Amino acid sequence: MKTIARLDIDHLPRISLLEGPTPIQRLCRLETRLGKALAGVRIYIKRDDQIMFAGGGNKVRKLEYLMGAALADGCDTIIATGGLQSNHARLTAAAAARVGIDCELVLGRVVPRDDTDYEQNGNILLDKIFGAKLHILQRGQNASDFVYERAGKLAEAGKKVAVIPMGGSSAVGALGYARCAEEILAAEIGLEFQFDKILIPNGSSGTHAGLAAGFSALGRSVDRVRSYSVLGEEEAAITTTLLLANGALDLLGCDRIHSNSLDISGEHRGAGYGIPTDDSMGVIGLLAKSEGILLDPVYSAKAFAGMLHDIRKGAFSPGSNLLFVHTGGTPGLYAYRSEFN
Ligand SMILES: *Cc1c(COP(=O)(O)O)cnc(C)c1O
Repeated sequence: MKTIARLDIDHLPRISLLEGPTPIQRLCRLETRLGKALAGVRIYIKRDDQIMFAGGGNKVRKLEYLMGAALADGCDTIIATGGLQSNHARLTAAAAARVGIDCELVLGRVVPRDDTDYEQNGNILLDKIFGAKLHILQRGQNASDFVYERAGKLAEAGKKVAVIPMGGSSAVGALGYARCAEEILAAEIGLEFQFDKILIPNGSSGTHAGLAAGFSALGRSVDRVRSYSVLGEEEAAITTTLLLANGALDLLGCDRIHSNSLDISGEHRGAGYGIPTDDSMGVIGLLAKSEGILLDPVYSAKAFAGMLHDIRKGAFSPGSNLLFVHTGGTPGLYAYRSEFN
């Protein structure tokens, strides 16, 4: 049997939150519905949204390594930051509950929404149910200053604190997606073809960075990953992704990559982070009604809309196999109820 080279990763601390590889499905109903607009392309989806832990999503893969490192350091408290509807905050709260340490979440008002659903439903509701202590900041208040002070106070009280960067995007967090790159290569052996492009959203850039690091470490081309920024400008997203990818490659003991192998589009962010676009709202309905699959308005729907846009403009040659990695975020749908009126 054909096998792939393995990542030299087993010596790095990790906890296990995944049950195994996530499924890859072909979106046949959507393909039929798109018809000629599909330009002969096949669309597959990797269901990281269906990871069987606390609502699933890409942050689970990162947390396997982030939480592993925190426990290896002997930490008893973990602090994570994000917006009010951060998927990463929700999953950090759940992972802390699972390993039995305290979790504090510093949540900023980074999106211009203040309706009751946004303030109280979706992820923030789940944060409370998972037992995290919440610190909700005022609009404009600096999260890193708050975290620094809070971590200091906890340390004075004798706690051993781990602070996780925004979105779990550090070199260590990115390792979760380096492993996912290995998982995709293993799946390709079973499928007996290779994906021509792998498409993802790009927020804090750890997902793209991890996939890039994984493919590079395994001797595969890095530019087959294409991401759609939902947060920063294209140039900023490239800079952050490169930094994180090379940090992960350092941890893996492999050669670094150059920015020219990073394929990132900044064209589908709309008015800004957390602000739905007409295209992304349309795509949520399209995928729900054709496939019974839910996308989220902040990340996956913007990236999926970007991919469909690229397909329509002929960016992929006929016969191409595309793999959209569904990074999750569906609990956030409940926070955006008013957008569906
Ligand atoms: C955080 C997040 C992303 C973006 O991943 P990054 O590694 O931050 O770029 C995409 N989708 C969902 C649902 C997320 O929660």
